[in-house]
Amino acid sequence: MSEIVKTEGIVLSKLDYSDSSKIVSIYSEVFGKISAIVKGGRGKNSKIGMVIDPLNIVNLVLYNKEQREVQLISSAETVCYFSHLHDNFERIKFAYSVLELLKYLTVDNEINGRLYKGSKKILQLMDKGEEQPEILFLKYFLFILQETGFEIQMSVCSICHKVIEKEKTNGFNYEHGMLCNDCKNLYHTFLEIPGELFEQIYSLKVGMKLKNYNLPAMKKLIFALEKFLKYHLHGFNGIKSLQM
Ligand SMILES: [Zn+2]
Repeated sequence: MSEIVKTEGIVLSKLDYSDSSKIVSIYSEVFGKISAIVKGGRGKNSKIGMVIDPLNIVNLVLYNKEQREVQLISSAETVCYFSHLHDNFERIKFAYSVLELLKYLTVDNEINGRLYKGSKKILQLMDKGEEQPEILFLKYFLFILQETGFEIQMSVCSICHKVIEKEKTNGFNYEHGMLCNDCKNLYHTFLEIPGELFEQIYSLKVGMKLKNYNLPAMKKLIFALEKFLKYHLHGFNGIKSLQM
């Protein structure tokens, strides 16, 4: 038996299915990540087909069947359409990168309310455009790693477990994570982390706003986290949207 259920969700991706339908992947508030079918969603006049588009946040009504892998969407309406994101190439690139991470790092039907709220919030901030998209993305990257079991430890060295001295220059290695000043000289270091940068990463990790930062260093850090994830998450080949 199927029941009718409602949830809000972020549309992650959309693919053609059969002659007339679409299969969509949605990160939902109530059920976690789900796959669903939009019958007739390929038609030009399909209202649901238009509402359910990647990046949109939607309210869904589903015919939910627990044994079924793909749920059937009965109706949908828009909660957020990010019009400013669609006008700005740099920002949309990072917004799509958020969707990619959310898709790769979550498993079907695993509910995480905090991850849902954090993902919605970061897309809203990217759309608002008051903060640099790279910085918002970096903050989100650290957050989603933490929420999905890949947290970057910053208090102790990942090799010798000594407390990291923030004022020294430490290091980052994509196999282990954060390295103390001593281990940095013994192991391959992908990125040098001087005290100031360490403080900035820490601020982003706890969700604070950055007042001053060096943008090239922040971009390098995004690249370092991507390499870290490639090393630790089997089948992950990097963020395609960042290569656009
Ligand atoms: Zn160490």
